[in-house]
Amino acid sequence: MRCLLCHASIEQDVNWDTVLKPVETRVMCAACRETLPLIEGNVCPICNRKMDCNATCSDCQKWEQSDKWQGVLKRNQSLYHYHEGIQEVITQWKYRGDYVLVKLFQSDIERIVKDRRKQWPTAVVPIPLSSERLVERGFNQAEAIARLMTRKPVHLLERLDSEKQSKKTRYERLNRINPFRSKTSVPPHVLLVDDIYTTGATLRYAAKALQDAGCLHIESFTLIRG
Ligand SMILES: [Zn+2]
Ligand SMILES: [Zn+2]
Repeated sequence: MRCLLCHASIEQDVNWDTVLKPVETRVMCAACRETLPLIEGNVCPICNRKMDCNATCSDCQKWEQSDKWQGVLKRNQSLYHYHEGIQEVITQWKYRGDYVLVKLFQSDIERIVKDRRKQWPTAVVPIPLSSERLVERGFNQAEAIARLMTRKPVHLLERLDSEKQSKKTRYERLNRINPFRSKTSVPPHVLLVDDIYTTGATLRYAAKALQDAGCLHIESFTLIRG
């Protein structure tokens, strides 16, 4: 068997012991496994950024001080810290354009879903790509993550922009036209899912569209906290 990431061979005997092992030890080698560090210790209670103490980070304080954005996204939970090694994994995943690499995260995602089942909203809503980007890439990473979390992701959002990665100032990020449009019938509680939380703007615009449609409580889960 070969590591999904680096293609090194993974030595193992196939017996009941290996079948019962977490899936990531069967699909990737130990060295690649280390490129996926779980978030542990002190974090910002809103965005899950790693902190020296459990205090709200300065970015979240700014979001919460804005009348427009206060309370729009109640909290975000992420799985892995961002670092260069993980960027390589994500780039491979993006450009190999398949649902195979999502197996790398499968057991970590299943574990967190089990831990959070009672707290998390049951409606799992992946952040959509614009149709233009979806055609270009062939698959949506947020959708692949959501499918590991639930058999039935709910599609409530449509994305109108083309996700061009132009640098925006903070003011522009907070005051642009919302790129998301929500269906008019929404459940009261939603868990948004995306691959990465970077500035938090994408998730908040999506949450804002849902809130405008009547959703009362929106949280998010991302694979990586950037
Ligand atoms: Zn490997
Ligand atoms: Zn924060």
